[in-house]
Amino acid sequence: MELKGPLCYVLDFDDIYNYAYQTAIKVKRSEWRPDAIVGIARGGWVHARIQCDLLGVKDLFSVKIDHWGVTATKDGKAKLTCPLTGDVVGKRVLVIDDITDTGESLTMAVDHVKSCGPADVKSAALMHIAGSKFTPDYYGVEVAWAWEIWPWNFYEDLTSLITKIFQGEKVKEMSTMELKKHLREYNNIVLSDDQLSKIKAHMGFLGTIEYPLDKAWRLKE
Ligand code: ADP
Repeated sequence: MELKGPLCYVLDFDDIYNYAYQTAIKVKRSEWRPDAIVGIARGGWVHARIQCDLLGVKDLFSVKIDHWGVTATKDGKAKLTCPLTGDVVGKRVLVIDDITDTGESLTMAVDHVKSCGPADVKSAALMHIAGSKFTPDYYGVEVAWAWEIWPWNFYEDLTSLITKIFQGEKVKEMSTMELKKHLREYNNIVLSDDQLSKIKAHMGFLGTIEYPLDKAWRLKE
């Protein structure tokens, strides 16, 4: 069945730890040891913190990269919006993200860190999309393109996917049953009633749908 929207996979923290372990094993086998880790905000932060633990690294720094475009989506050009937050002079540095898709964020972050005087820079991601312009030195798994819904981005992604379903269906209200059916048709996503009620409360909190909540999902005027 052809989907009406992008194919999505919902990942949980067991998936994340599995890919993080796969990545860490590759670092260990390579016998290259980082002195410092740089997490790319926002997507790379959780992975970066986990690698500090798995690889025994105490220095954790950040850079922030945003994608600026007409619609403020990731179609836009990557831009470094917060430079490196720590001293990497003379250190072996591992730059970490969640996924390499276009590869722009990691390319830009690695170039920036290289300009800050380190001894050596390598890169790592949990997932690598086959065909990406940038291949990290270490990654947990290679996959075909899909939109990966990270546990740290669950409510943000579901809010935007559900908003797109409302737009696609050109309706202002739907039942939970209808929404479940559309999430399958649009994105191949299957969620539990508990997950849906938490998303509904979140969208009410954001003011995207009406709050206080009743049975229907009703877009706020
Ligand atoms: P990178 O330069 O690290 O390869 P991109 O520039 O392609 O990454 O994308 C920037 C950020 O957008 C990623 O770090 C990730 O948080 C998010 N992202 C991009 N593609 C995907 C995807 N297929 N699934 C989930 N998140 C994605």
